[in-house]
Parts: sequence; C-alpha cells; structure tokens
Amino acid sequence: MTDLPEGVPEVLTWMSIFDQTDDDIVPPYAFAHFPFAAEPVGTWNEDGDLGRFIADLYDVRIGKLDADGTYEVTSSRAQAPDFFEQAHNQAFAMRSMFECDFGEDADAPAHRLEANLGAALKGFAAFDATSSAVLSESAFVSLPHILEGSTDLVCVLQLAALQFYKQATQVLRGFVEGQVVDLHLARHPEQHRRWRNGSYKLPSLRGEQGLLKKLERAGALDATLAARIEALYGEMNAFVHGAEPALINSGLFQADHTGHAFREDKFEIWSRHFVEASELGVRLLQAKSVLWARELKLQTDLCETCWEPTLGAGDRFDFGGREHVKRRCATCGREATIRTDTGARVYVTTVSFGSGDLVPQGAPSSDLPDP
Ligand SMILES: [Zn+2]
Repeated sequence: MTDLPEGVPEVLTWMSIFDQTDDDIVPPYAFAHFPFAAEPVGTWNEDGDLGRFIADLYDVRIGKLDADGTYEVTSSRAQAPDFFEQAHNQAFAMRSMFECDFGEDADAPAHRLEANLGAALKGFAAFDATSSAVLSESAFVSLPHILEGSTDLVCVLQLAALQFYKQATQVLRGFVEGQVVDLHLARHPEQHRRWRNGSYKLPSLRGEQGLLKKLERAGALDATLAARIEALYGEMNAFVHGAEPALINSGLFQADHTGHAFREDKFEIWSRHFVEASELGVRLLQAKSVLWARELKLQTDLCETCWEPTLGAGDRFDFGGREHVKRRCATCGREATIRTDTGARVYVTTVSFGSGDLVPQGAPSSDLPDP
C-alpha cells in the first residue's frame, strides 16, 4: 500500500444521494432481444442479444445529488459491458456444473445441445440481471418472492446438471407459479398478510376462475403473456404428476430404460422449458415493476420488506440543499430515506478513499440481503 501524502486524512468518505428513477425499471424495449439465440456460452459477446438486453436494462436514468448541491442525471449504461462480463463469467461457472461434453464440432448434433444449454443460461442471466435491476431500485412488491425466483433457477440448473430432469422441471414449475402468485398478492395486501402468516390457500393458476384469468381481467397481465404461462405450466404438469415419459425411470415398458443418466431427449425438453420459463419470469418482473410504480412507489410509510405501513416518523437532515427524512420500520428495523419535498424514496451511498482502493462502505440506504 502506498503511503498517503502528509496532511491527507487516512480515509475520505464521499456521500451521494440517488433519486429513485422515474423511468420504467425494466424498459420494455429490452424485450426486443427476445427470444435469445441458442449459442454456446463460449461464443457469447457483449454485442449479442444478451449483451444488448443488459445494456438496455441499465439505460434507466438516475439522478445523483452530491453534498455541494451538484445534481447530475446519468445512467449505468456505460457499465453494461462490465455487467455483461460478470454474467458471462457466471454462465461459464454454471456450464462447468454440466459434466456432459457436447464436443466442439459445430456440425455435430451434440452442438445443438450445447447451444440449447447456452440459451438456457442466457435466460438465467437475463432473469438475474432483471432481478438485480429491480432490487437496486426497490421496485419489487414482495422481497421473498423476488429473491426466491433467482434461488429457484439456480436450483433448477443444479438439478439438471445432475441429470435430474423431472425434479428440475418440478422446481421450474414452482418458479413460474411463485412469480405469478407474487403478482396476484401484490394486488391484494390482505391475502399477502395471510400468505406471510402461513394461512393463505393457493388458488389454481389455470381455468376461468384461476389466477391467470383474474390477472388478465384486472389488466395486470397481458393476454398473450397469460396464455404463454398457461401453456408452459400445463406442459410442466406432467413432471409434477408423474406421467410415465417424465420419469427418470421411464421406458421400462418399451425396453428403453436408462434410469438416472444423461438423456438427450429429456435434456432438450428441459432446456426448452427453462428458456421459456426464464423469459416469462423476466416479463412477470416487468409487470410487477409497473404495478409497483403505479400503486406502491409513493407510499412513503410502507416498509419495503414487511409490506406494511410501519415506517416511523424518523429524523430529518439536510444534504446538498435538500431536506430528507430517515425512517425506520418498527417491525424489522429496515431504514428508508425519503425526500421531504416530493415524498420520493432516495438511496444514500457512501464511498471511502484512502487504502489505495475504492472501498464501498454502503449500499442504498434500504440495504438488501444478497440475492
Ligand atoms: Zn419492516
């Protein structure tokens, strides 16, 4: 470590306050990159569909206020190549979990499987990036559901890597269901309360009285999106209800039994389901962020974790010529900082200099657990 010049404090702390954006948290034009091309992970690059999707996701304008009153509107789009590289590295790590070797020959049938796996991993990266964007703006309606979505998809990939195709699909169906239920509960706080207390009975997704039709009739879910969810959910039911072809031990009656092993046919079906489920997950995150912006964003007494009006009065403070109030949830202790002039939430970020490195000392004032 280089010694600091005499007279320079050992640590300098720089604080900024970021406004919550007024743009769409998940810009709809990012969806122009769907469906992603099926490409092996090793061939991805930042100018490809996933890279452009991530760049669009970080195109959202952010207002930054410094202590001297300087206010700058910027976006994180310039950092998109770094975000893409992180996603790409994560995809390589995920690919390495799959021990199957599909070979390098682009003309071989196995190359198609490698490309299909690449498409599934792009889907995971897209959901993960969208989830992070939503979390960074606190634009979620239920924190457990958004965190569980990424956890579900990691679980599905791990099970599929171990050739548990039926079990992977069961969890994948649970992922889709969880994301739909989140959208439904967001519109019904009383039911969300019962869900938290363990007394909520989950209605069916499909049918005229199912959640999908209810959301569609309420204008919370696009009809095309609802139909796609219904179709995928129906296909994946066979894996939950144990249809013979879906079993790991299928084929006994046709002398085609392999048991627990790599199966090209099952792998292909799994990857197709995963690609569709992850894209639907991204689109559901977008639908939920729209609902959040319309109905929840300006409820300044609402704790984002507990989802109840439990934020206390809090202390007022001036920063950059603007007055803010820091409010704390009486139930979970989570803090939220709010502009007193507009009632909008803001995020306090501090960065410290001094050890030779830039050391982030804090995240948004409403810190979140790592997804
Ligand atoms: Zn709380």
